[in-house]
Amino acid sequence: MIIKMKKDASLEAVNRVLDYIQEEGFSIKDVSSERVKIYGVIGDTSKLEARDFYAFTAVGEVIRIQAPYKKASREFQALDTRIDLGDGVVIGGDQHVVMTGPCSVENETQMMTIGAFMQKHNLKILRGGAFKPRTSPYAFQGLGEEGLKLMRKVADTFGLKVISEVPSVSAIPMFEQYVDIIQVGARNMQNFHLLKALGKTRKPIFLKRGLSATIEEWLMSAEYIMDGGNDQVILCERGIRTFERYTRNTLDISAVLAIKELSHLPIIIDPSHASGRYKMVDPLAQAALAVGAHGQMIEIHPEPEKALSDGAQSLTLERFERLLTHLQPLADVLGKTIT
Ligand code: PEP
Ligand code: MN
Repeated sequence: MIIKMKKDASLEAVNRVLDYIQEEGFSIKDVSSERVKIYGVIGDTSKLEARDFYAFTAVGEVIRIQAPYKKASREFQALDTRIDLGDGVVIGGDQHVVMTGPCSVENETQMMTIGAFMQKHNLKILRGGAFKPRTSPYAFQGLGEEGLKLMRKVADTFGLKVISEVPSVSAIPMFEQYVDIIQVGARNMQNFHLLKALGKTRKPIFLKRGLSATIEEWLMSAEYIMDGGNDQVILCERGIRTFERYTRNTLDISAVLAIKELSHLPIIIDPSHASGRYKMVDPLAQAALAVGAHGQMIEIHPEPEKALSDGAQSLTLERFERLLTHLQPLADVLGKTIT
């Protein structure tokens, strides 16, 4: 961190800043010129908030060099994080994981149909919501624990892993019982209480980007989980809110590249929630693979017209099958295995 003092700052005011920095355990490198006083703060500055320095009257400008996140940072760990789910399923390496399933778990027939379909196509990670975060309290809220039980049953029948969104801190022990990956929904990305609690579980966490979250805020949320002791975090870009209303959200495809530069954590794209339109999912899925995402999360439904949530963005099994045939040649070129 670099601190530039105001031109007219008194020596006493400058010293107050320097004393504070040293009291906080940092050392100082004086890089002042004749005209301007500039100091480098040496040490792990991830714990410092640049904005706080402006409380000192002498401070003119603060420039952050080190990212405010540490454990999630590529500087902290150069090698990509790989999350081994067992049975040969690894997120963050040469596999391109296509997680799929319905928006909401609805009934056994729906889930068994999807489970059998996934087994046939050698896909390994079953998604499904049991506690749904809905904008309206009158909309279908999910089957709750019954939904999780059903997912586990289907997954065990067809040799799959389960991912589902956790609604609250108190639900974590229940999720630990049934799922392989715990999802944090976009609306909970900055529920810091929840993130801290998830730092204590041993399950991998799938952290969706908040509706209007910057990449830095998103990585800070990953940092909460990692600082709590759980370094198995998977990031998911699911579209952000912009002025555009034609699509449900705006897919920030460049976020994949930004995350790969800034962090070692795996990055997944969700083209379903990003677009909100089933017709856009296939081309966006190809883009996700092409840009280097470690995988995708795609909503499917045997009968989208009858889906209890997100039917408009859900692919029929036939459409999804076609999507897979489009991804395959691209995966071959890139040397990725679709899982
Ligand atoms: C979901 O994946 O089921 C979901 C609700 O997504 P998001 O949190 O991205 O809106
Ligand atoms: Mn959905």
